[in-house]
Amino acid sequence: MIGRGYRRELGWVLATALGLLGLGWGVGRPAAFLLLGAAAYLGWQLWHLERLRRWLERRPGVELRPTFGLWHDVFVTVERLRRKNRDRKKRLRRALRGFERAASAAPDGAVILREGGEIVWMNPMAEELLGLRRAQDIGQPIANLVRSPAFADYVSAGRFDRPLDLDSPADSGRHLVVRIAPYDDQRSLLLVRDVTRVIQLEQVRRDFIANVSHELRTPLTVLVGYLETMTDDDTMPAQYERPLRQMSEQAERMSRIVEDLLRLSRMENEPGGAPRNVVKVGDLLRRLADDLRDLSAGRHAISVQTDVESTLLGDEAEIYSAFSNIAVNAVHYTPLGGDIQVRFLVDEDGGGRFEVSDSGVGIDAEHLPRLTERFYRVDKARSREVGGTGLGLAIVKHVLMRHDGHLEVTSTPGEGSTFTCCFPAERVVTSIVDAGAA
Ligand code: ADP
Repeated sequence: MIGRGYRRELGWVLATALGLLGLGWGVGRPAAFLLLGAAAYLGWQLWHLERLRRWLERRPGVELRPTFGLWHDVFVTVERLRRKNRDRKKRLRRALRGFERAASAAPDGAVILREGGEIVWMNPMAEELLGLRRAQDIGQPIANLVRSPAFADYVSAGRFDRPLDLDSPADSGRHLVVRIAPYDDQRSLLLVRDVTRVIQLEQVRRDFIANVSHELRTPLTVLVGYLETMTDDDTMPAQYERPLRQMSEQAERMSRIVEDLLRLSRMENEPGGAPRNVVKVGDLLRRLADDLRDLSAGRHAISVQTDVESTLLGDEAEIYSAFSNIAVNAVHYTPLGGDIQVRFLVDEDGGGRFEVSDSGVGIDAEHLPRLTERFYRVDKARSREVGGTGLGLAIVKHVLMRHDGHLEVTSTPGEGSTFTCCFPAERVVTSIVDAGAA
């Protein structure tokens, strides 16, 4: 659409051209007058174009001096756009400063990294926790500054779905959790959190449970001992028989809970993974088969595959307690006449799988993710009835964690369950000759 300024300018040009033509005719040279007018108009345009160019080259802040005609409109519009742009920049700068202040006040460390791990930006908390210095470390690869092999591996591996636990390079008494989140093709945000307090509280909790369990152990042993003697004593009056038997059962249950708690504490307080002792799976399964048959006392059809040549590299007592907890559960939660199958398999990738399948009561899917929590029981009454402590699968989970493995459970309510202990290939040797060499 043609603007008002343009129409006005066109009006002036036409009026001036007509005036010049009139004057030109008066003196008999209309063409010369018209040409003179056109040349003057062109000069005026060029001069304003040059003014605009010079102004564009200058620093921002220099005013574009006003003129008239169409150029006046152009100058006013350019000036308005420039002011708008300046305001937008100011707002952006303010927002950026606000963001920097917020990031600086954050209780966690934050570092922006370029591809290759070079530091682009960091907040003061990152300086404090990772021992970095903003003045000299920007532009340096972070793996050269945070001197920890685990950290260097974490940064270079590029698998950031899990956080990394790290002792602070600036202060070995501080424990950190580091997480890296890539946010575009080339950049990532590294977040560091100080978890020293959480770890201390966790240690207090562990010590407390270990101490309480330890303190209860001896009095309970005494109680169980006396109750056993009294239960076996034929001279005891008949009316004491039932209460004594109940007391004896409950005291033994408490003893089992205390023993399981102590076992868990020992594993939690032992840093690092399990030792890599040679554990012959065949021997373990033979022992397990005897124990299971004793426990079932003919109430179930039990098949245990014992002709296994494989060897696990781990702690024999821990592995046996994990296998036994799972197998004993199968006996406890499978009704009379049910089937129980125990076997050990080696995958194509060399990983080991200890599997116990039963045709028992099964477990609803909603309970599966919580089964390894301490004292989590699907049916409390049934667990008590069979003498469960609610700690069996928590122990299994810990044992497997210490052997770099994990537990898998599949179950159909009313049809049965399969519990599988999965071991990585590094913990499995498929022949005894190899195991000796390992
Ligand atoms: P508990 O001492 O109570 O058996 P566990 O930690 O060994 O404790 O097991 C937790 C819960 O998981 C049990 O209380 C039981 O409800 C369920 N569970 C474990 N194994 C089986 C199984 N083979 N079949 C059905 N339920 C099971």
